[in-house]
Amino acid sequence: MKKRYLDHNATTPVDPLVLEAMLPYCKGLFGNASSVHEFGRLARKGIDEARQKAASLIGANDVDTIVFTGSGTESDNFAVKGAAEALKSKGNHIITSSIEHHAVLNTCKFLEKNGFKVTYLPVDKFGIVDLSALKKAITDKTILITIMYANNEMGAIEPIQEIARIATDNNILFHTDAVQAMGKLPVDVSRLGVDMLSLSAHKIYGPKGVGALYVKKGVKLTPIIHGGHHEKNRRAGTENVAGIAGFGKAAELALKNMPQEIEYIRGLRDRLENGILESIKHTYLNGHPDKRLCNTSNISFEFLEGESIILNLDMEGIAVSTGSACTSGSLEPSHVLTAMGIDPVRTQGSLRFSLGKDNTEDDIDCVIKILPPIIEKLRRMSPLYKG
Ligand code: PLP
Repeated sequence: MKKRYLDHNATTPVDPLVLEAMLPYCKGLFGNASSVHEFGRLARKGIDEARQKAASLIGANDVDTIVFTGSGTESDNFAVKGAAEALKSKGNHIITSSIEHHAVLNTCKFLEKNGFKVTYLPVDKFGIVDLSALKKAITDKTILITIMYANNEMGAIEPIQEIARIATDNNILFHTDAVQAMGKLPVDVSRLGVDMLSLSAHKIYGPKGVGALYVKKGVKLTPIIHGGHHEKNRRAGTENVAGIAGFGKAAELALKNMPQEIEYIRGLRDRLENGILESIKHTYLNGHPDKRLCNTSNISFEFLEGESIILNLDMEGIAVSTGSACTSGSLEPSHVLTAMGIDPVRTQGSLRFSLGKDNTEDDIDCVIKILPPIIEKLRRMSPLYKG
């Protein structure tokens, strides 16, 4: 059976060119980048080149603004905890949104247990953060605003430039989690005006377990991992050279291919979305019609549990998800769809389709063909469905 992967917001396959760029560092170029001898210098060169490529992807002129980390989650932790610790003498208030990834939400919850106060901003029915609520939430104790660039569950693109302006006007640091935006939207840190921005390699056809945090020149963060002098004393630990080289290659490819890929993937996404919404009754799109990632479609199938649809599609070789890969397996309804005010019955029956560059029209047409009889069968078994 042909396998069809439509879960790219969970992770992406490693691009063969990325793997090729990583392999030398798993073989002959195995040196420790901190070593002075040639083995070390060659590893360091690999990291330097990758740093340049990651900086170019987000329009950062100064390569030293890029700190490599062990994941997007670590980048978020570093930004939020690092800023909180560095600025705690100035204030103890943080503003975030109610639809963040758990990498930010649970970091904020941790800080709440340690004396910080956190405001979780509401979103509208499309998942867009309320800017008037943001302005009202600011106090003279606010030290950090952290709001994601694009949401992983339904793809909403947040007004980052406006939020950055509000933060700057109030002399508050601004971090954005751009893990899902990267590679699907042009990201330019100077144009956006952000102070910190989180990235993760495995969402752009790079390896898992490598992330980066952009830290604008002059912004001081307290490290969260202590040890040696790596990453200019900002993140201790011998660098994952192969992973970082893979990140660099993935960033280079994303920058080069993004314009064509965005158009291609958006075309497939619209074909899928229209096909489903037109052929299956009681289906609803969750998220903004336009201010949304080109690859993401979150659709509710009323009267059903998303998990049962996933299992049935899986038996046909089709991989989709209910939302965040981190919350699947939990029976909690999505905090994102709940924050958007979506009815719990529709939240339960939601599916996330997230497409990638290797998907084809054939994948889409296959889903459009296979899904209606699955939905019909499951609805016949559902006590909620009255026909
Ligand atoms: N932030 C967002 C918006 C994400 O979607 C993810 C992963 O799904 C992360 C952070 C965490 O990144 P990582 O898997 O590299 O830890």
